[in-house]
Amino acid sequence: MDKKKDILSLDEFSVEQINEFLIQTESFAEILKRDIKKVPALRGKTIINLFFEPSTRTKVSFEIAAKRLSADLINFNTSSSSLRKGESEIDTIKTINSMENDLIIIRHSDSGYINYFAKNVPVPVVNAGDGKHEHPTQALLDLYTIYKNFTNLKDLKIAIIGDILNSRVARSDIKLFNKMGMDVKVVAPSMLMPEDFSSFKTKFANNIDEVISDADVLYMLRMQFERQERKFYPSIKEYNKFLSLDMARFNLMKKDAILMHPGPVNRGIEISGEVMDIETLNKDKIKINAQISNGVAVRMALLYYALS
Ligand code: ASP
Repeated sequence: MDKKKDILSLDEFSVEQINEFLIQTESFAEILKRDIKKVPALRGKTIINLFFEPSTRTKVSFEIAAKRLSADLINFNTSSSSLRKGESEIDTIKTINSMENDLIIIRHSDSGYINYFAKNVPVPVVNAGDGKHEHPTQALLDLYTIYKNFTNLKDLKIAIIGDILNSRVARSDIKLFNKMGMDVKVVAPSMLMPEDFSSFKTKFANNIDEVISDADVLYMLRMQFERQERKFYPSIKEYNKFLSLDMARFNLMKKDAILMHPGPVNRGIEISGEVMDIETLNKDKIKINAQISNGVAVRMALLYYALS
């Protein structure tokens, strides 16, 4: 029997396979522009959306992607499930295994839990974000968004700014962008950097002003307050001074540079409300909503890969 096609991290995929995903995404994006945005590619397949942590865009994006491919998607609501009645997670896994399904999309707050989960279910598992560990579908949609804007990914200068320590998006993005030959620089205060930073093999700066006028892509990260067991930064005022994107800094970005953020944005912390409010007039530069739209086509490509 063929090995089941889990998508737990993009580390397992070669540059060629990643390029193939980008091309495949392009063709699914075409379908999404049609009047009838649905193809029968996964008709008869059942997909479970299993989110143990809150999510808005990722959960809905997977749901739309599955439906566009004609799969049946079932949202398993963990807050109203038997977990609340004391059922252990391993028993929940057994319960889900007993229901006929073809693929499980899962998000969990414990880093690494999804790898354990994938070993215990017979169908492909897609990681929709685990703790501070990995968020592979976000990384691929980020790459696709960059690829749509720049023909050549190689040596493109990307600055990833903010709470690197607590961000699974940063971990997955840094590895993927490095793999694709991009020039990655991480910008964060030392207290928001992980101890194992040297393993990322990227350059490092403390202040957004060191990268603002040089980067092709400015990738702002959300402050992950829910994962910070203690206060990691003296004050918002201090954060604004060294790391936030306000209007003055926005105006210093290179002409063709783009701005990205995985959402949800803390207005006034990583990006000012003023910059957020000009997105509709600056769609060429501010790609935060484009990332969300691109997420659907990327997830269609990944679901199709895992189930075909
Ligand atoms: N939505 C992304 C995630 O689930 C980014 C964030 O929450 O900051 O990790």
